[in-house]
Amino acid sequence: MGCIGRKTKIQKKLLHWFKQNKRDLPWRKTRDPYAIWVSEIMLQQTQVNTAIPYYNHFLKTFPTVRSLARANLSKVLKIWEGLGYYSRARNLHQASRIIANHLKGKIPETPKDLLSLPGIGRYTAGAILSIAYNKETPILDGNVKRVLSRLFVVSGHPKKTEEFLWPLSESLIPKGSPGAFNQALMDLGSVICTPKNPNCLGCPLKYFCQGYLSGKPGSYPVRSVKKKVPHIEAIAAVIQKDGKVLIRQRPPRGLLGGLWEFPNWPIDGGKNLKKYLRLKVKGNFGLKVKCKEPLGTFKQTYSHFKLTLHAYHCQVVDGIGNGKWVPIKNLPLLPLSKIHRKIANTIVPK
Ligand code: SF4
Repeated sequence: MGCIGRKTKIQKKLLHWFKQNKRDLPWRKTRDPYAIWVSEIMLQQTQVNTAIPYYNHFLKTFPTVRSLARANLSKVLKIWEGLGYYSRARNLHQASRIIANHLKGKIPETPKDLLSLPGIGRYTAGAILSIAYNKETPILDGNVKRVLSRLFVVSGHPKKTEEFLWPLSESLIPKGSPGAFNQALMDLGSVICTPKNPNCLGCPLKYFCQGYLSGKPGSYPVRSVKKKVPHIEAIAAVIQKDGKVLIRQRPPRGLLGGLWEFPNWPIDGGKNLKKYLRLKVKGNFGLKVKCKEPLGTFKQTYSHFKLTLHAYHCQVVDGIGNGKWVPIKNLPLLPLSKIHRKIANTIVPK
């Protein structure tokens, strides 16, 4: 079978399979570029089933790009709370303001304009353009890379193969159906051509798949060696006074930017933890405290490190403190990272 004939067969088989097996997802009930953009940003680092309730809540709270642009960041982060990778929410918010203020509220229709917005890379631009605007633009995320690498037995370091896979993805798009085809590739990668144990026997492309025919589909793509992530230990002060608790806001950029948290500092073993915490609180907040019993030890894994956080109840002995005191009952209204939400849940009255 010639190369063109094979590509045409792949297109037909995949589109036919998609028609019959398309997953029923809320963002597939619309062609609104704003809604599709939100869904694609959420799906970047989040599984479909986790993203669905967040997507519904987000769209209900901010139904248009202008409503998102008008919202304050804290509200956006609160809706995003628990999804992680908060720079996605900050970028969405920032981009919505650019669109509302400079682009008459219209999501751009060209790769160049989309790529100029914060948080939109080549994959997201391709997804928005093909799904919302029916433009023949390719996509390449982890799922699509895996499917294409197996179909065409592409080996080599994942970063290097991208140069080859982008044009390959583009060359496969059938005229007139870019959105359906791209989504079909995504679905195939999610439900059939999975990282471990691909279901080749149930795959509509098995007769055109060189990986399957080679007998070793799982060897593609070549996996990069996972780096060991460092482990950080830290200590947090939960300082309460008159029904309020002291919290601080993280800087607007960087990890968990803009979220609130209990004051905390890294430790490196062998220290008198309570004394260390007392001195940190004094130095940073001008507050003399007595650190009491431990409230608990909380763990969280981030993309680049693992965190173990020891939280302590602290009692104010002297001083007003230059931090923000909030009523404990209001903690559920503020955006907190997962680990600080766990701590908050231990002190918020049920
Ligand atoms: S035949 Fe197997 S390896 Fe090839 S695309 Fe289908 S599921 Fe993936």
